[in-house]
Amino acid sequence: MPDTVTDVLIEKPRLGEPYLLTPGPLTTSWAVKSAMLRDWGSWDDDFRTMTAEVRARLLALLGASGAGYDCVPMQGSGTFAVEAMLGSFIPRGARALVLANGAYGLRAAETLTVMGRDHVVLDKGDYLPPRGGEVAAILARDPAISHVVAIHCETSSGVLNPLEEIAAAVVGAGRRLLVDSMSAFGAVPLDPATVPFAAMVSSANKCIEGVPGFGFVFARKAALKAAQGNAHSLSLDVHAQWAAMEKTGQWRFTPPTHVVAAFLEALREHEAEGGVAGRGARYAANRDALVAGMRRLGFETLLADRWLSPIIVTFFQPADPAFAFARFYAAMKARGFVIYPGKLTAVESFRLGCIGRIDTGVIADLLDAVAGALAEMGVRSAAPSAAAMAERARLTDQGEE
Ligand SMILES: *Cc1c(COP(=O)(O)O)cnc(C)c1O
Repeated sequence: MPDTVTDVLIEKPRLGEPYLLTPGPLTTSWAVKSAMLRDWGSWDDDFRTMTAEVRARLLALLGASGAGYDCVPMQGSGTFAVEAMLGSFIPRGARALVLANGAYGLRAAETLTVMGRDHVVLDKGDYLPPRGGEVAAILARDPAISHVVAIHCETSSGVLNPLEEIAAAVVGAGRRLLVDSMSAFGAVPLDPATVPFAAMVSSANKCIEGVPGFGFVFARKAALKAAQGNAHSLSLDVHAQWAAMEKTGQWRFTPPTHVVAAFLEALREHEAEGGVAGRGARYAANRDALVAGMRRLGFETLLADRWLSPIIVTFFQPADPAFAFARFYAAMKARGFVIYPGKLTAVESFRLGCIGRIDTGVIADLLDAVAGALAEMGVRSAAPSAAAMAERARLTDQGEE
């Protein structure tokens, strides 16, 4: 398995559109976009074969220890698939523990609230990962908790959460783990041998580099069978979708045919790049070039190096009064880059993605664009406020075990 960057062809977007430095939708290859140029009948054998190949290729990414699992695609954006997973695998009357350290953990908790499913939340704020020790302590105190919901990469800050120690605490206490690996799957290893999840979810438009339109749930076959009748919703029912696909090879309701065709092409490109290891190596190289270059320009990252993911990096906004995010965004877009606002509760920030059809050459151009945008705005220092740095130091100290 490669741990160096495979030589993949990274083309400039052919229609002159900006690069998307966002965590999905993201910049896709021309071949992925071109795969959408023909129409498919949803019940036709050709499309059924494509669905079967997508499921088989996704399962293969779990490796040998994925043998007891199956993969169920689900229409909609990633949130639809998360909602389907939570509603299908947490039985009515059960209690879940949600591990939150940002917007996506909080969204999982909100989903359970809307469904009326009992849950408790461990909320670590914006900066800090939930640790195995504290999860074990909560489970020991509350035997009614049967399921734990964890986010792999918390995309709102970029924290890569320590799933292996969380899984050890959950499985050690005889509970079940449900994982939102939306923004990490395909680029960060997730092996059921070391993270024995009951179910896990991701989507087409993140690290596999497809276009938006569906998500997919991996689950143990035993958990899929046991999920019959759990769902709160007719359409977001993973068991029913699985049973129909097993029987007929079809999706229960109109599938996003063009998106599936594009995704199959994206899966082939993923394999050609060396799978999870190759994709992860390119994204890590992007991150390293991005973080080093932004620090040279005077920016600071929200997170300490050990928690930085190869998916997305949060930077503090400069304290210089000449800096305004809306102007920075427009100046970056004029230079060919769409960036991402921050999603933190306490301090002003913005985010830059490392994923999609980009490489370190694109990152070098991005850094030139950042320098140009700052100069245009008259920003002399990119350093964050002393208050932001003090807040980071205070919270980071608390997080070390
Ligand atoms: C992208 C993402 C989702 C899903 O978001 P959608 O906008 O519904 O696609 C869920 N969880 C995480 C961690 C994500 O990064």
